[in-house]
Amino acid sequence: MTDLHRLSIRELSEGLANAQFSSRELTEHYLKRIAKIDVQVKSYVTVTPELALVEADAADTLRKAGGANVLTGVPIAHKDIFCTQGIKTTAGSKILDNFISPYDATVVAKGKASGLVTLGKLNMDEFAMGSTSENSYYGATANPWNLNHVPGGSSGGSAAAVAADLAPFATGTDTGGSIRQPASFCGLTGLKPTYGRVSRFGMIAYASSLDQGGPMARSAEDCAYLMNVMAGHDAKDSTSMNQVVDNYVANLNDTSVKGLRIGIPKQYFNVSGLAEDVKARVEESLKKLEDMGATLVEIDLNMTESYVPTYYLIAPAEASSNLQRFDGVRYGYRCENPVDLMDLYKRSRSEGFGAEVQRRILIGTYALSAGYYDAYYVKAQKVRRLIQQDFLKAFESVDVIAAPSAPTTAYKIGADLTPVEMYLGDIYTLAVNLAGLPAINAPVGFDQNNLPVGLQLIGNYWSESQLLSVVHQYQQATDWHTQRAAIAEENA
Ligand code: GLN
Repeated sequence: MTDLHRLSIRELSEGLANAQFSSRELTEHYLKRIAKIDVQVKSYVTVTPELALVEADAADTLRKAGGANVLTGVPIAHKDIFCTQGIKTTAGSKILDNFISPYDATVVAKGKASGLVTLGKLNMDEFAMGSTSENSYYGATANPWNLNHVPGGSSGGSAAAVAADLAPFATGTDTGGSIRQPASFCGLTGLKPTYGRVSRFGMIAYASSLDQGGPMARSAEDCAYLMNVMAGHDAKDSTSMNQVVDNYVANLNDTSVKGLRIGIPKQYFNVSGLAEDVKARVEESLKKLEDMGATLVEIDLNMTESYVPTYYLIAPAEASSNLQRFDGVRYGYRCENPVDLMDLYKRSRSEGFGAEVQRRILIGTYALSAGYYDAYYVKAQKVRRLIQQDFLKAFESVDVIAAPSAPTTAYKIGADLTPVEMYLGDIYTLAVNLAGLPAINAPVGFDQNNLPVGLQLIGNYWSESQLLSVVHQYQQATDWHTQRAAIAEENA
C-alpha cells in the first residue's frame, strides 16, 4: 500500500481493526516517508525508528490477542516539549541537548496507554518562545506548502510533520497561539483547549498560567480522536480540572451550525497588519457558515489593543521564573571549566540559551523586580482580568467568536522581523490564553501565493466539543482541509 499516509485517523483505526494493514506496516510506511522527505522539511529533532517498531509489534500482538482499542497501533509524534522517558527531550534548546527525561509527560503516557506508536519528537521554537520555529537550536523547519517559508511556531515541527504527511497527527502546546498559528500557516486543524483540560505534567513549562497542550491534525475529526487521549484530570498537575471529559469523537455531530450565533469582533477586522487575502478568506468562510445557518453578530472586544503588551509582560515574567531551574548544575548543558559557582551559572545560561529566550528572561526579571513589580506585573494582571471579562460579556450574546488565527500567512524563512514586529503577529491568539479559553484553527483557503489561511473560532470555557463539532460540520461542507501540499503527495 502506498497511500497509507492519506488515511484519516478513523480510516487508520478501521484499517487496523479489519486487518487491512498491520501497525508495523503503517509505522514502517511513515518511517520511510520521514527518512526520505524530512530531509527537506526538517520537522523532527529526533526520530525513534527502533522504538516505534517495538511499539508497533506490541500493538499488533495486543490486537491479535483481542486487547486493542480504537487507536492501538496508530502512529503519533510529539512536540519536543513533552518529556519522553529514555528519549531526548530538548524543548528546542541547546541547554537541554543532552537531556533524557526519567519519566513520561502525562500526555505521552496516556498516548502509550491508548496504544499510540511514537515516531519521534518534533522541532519547535526554543522553550516555545516564537512564531516561526526559527528560534530552535536545531535549525529552522520548512513549511510543506513552500519550503522557503516558515511553518509558524512554536509548534512548527508538529504542523510541518502533519502537513507533509510525516505523522498522522501530533501534539502541540499553545501559550499564546503556538497550536493555532502553525496550524493556520500549514493548513491544519489545531485545538487549544480550555486551561486545565489537558495535564501539563511533564510538559516543559514556559508560562505556566497560559500553557496548554492540544492536538494538531488534518481535520476536526482527527483532532477529536487525539483530544479523547489527551484530555482529563491529572493528580500530578494541580491546575488540571477535575471534571467530566467529553467523548469528542462521539460529539462531532452534536452542535449544529444552524442557529449558531457567531460573534464578529469589530476591532479584529480593523487591525492594521491584517493582510487582504487573509481577511477575504476568513470573510468567505464566515459567509459559508452563514449559508449553513449561522447568524453573524457584530460584537465589541474593547481590550484588543492591550493583548500584546499584557501577554508580553506576563509570559516573560513567568518564563524568567520557570527557567531558573536550568542552572548548569542539576541537568542540561554545563559550561567548560567554570572558575566558581557564579561563573558556572552565568556561562552555562549564556551559552545554553538562545537570544530570544535570554531577551525574555531579562524582560521578565525586570518586570518582577522589586521597584517595578506593581507598575508592570501587577498592572498586567489587572488588565488580564479585564480581557477575560470582555470575553465573558461577549459570550452572553454569542456562542462562539470568529477571528483570523494570524494577520498574515507564513513568513519567509529569515524574514528577520524585529522582536516587536514578531510579537504583533500574535494579536489574534494571545487573549485566548490570557482568558484561559479554548479556541480552534480551521483551514479556509489560500492566499495568492498558495499559502494556507486559517479561521479561528473561540469558545466559552469547556466548549471543546462544540468547537470541534462546528469545524467538523464546516469540513463536511467544504474541502479546504483535504488539500495537500505537493511534498505530501510524494511517495517514499
Ligand atoms: N508566539 C508567542 C510567543 O512567542 C506564543 C508562543 C506559544 O504559544 N508558545 O510567545
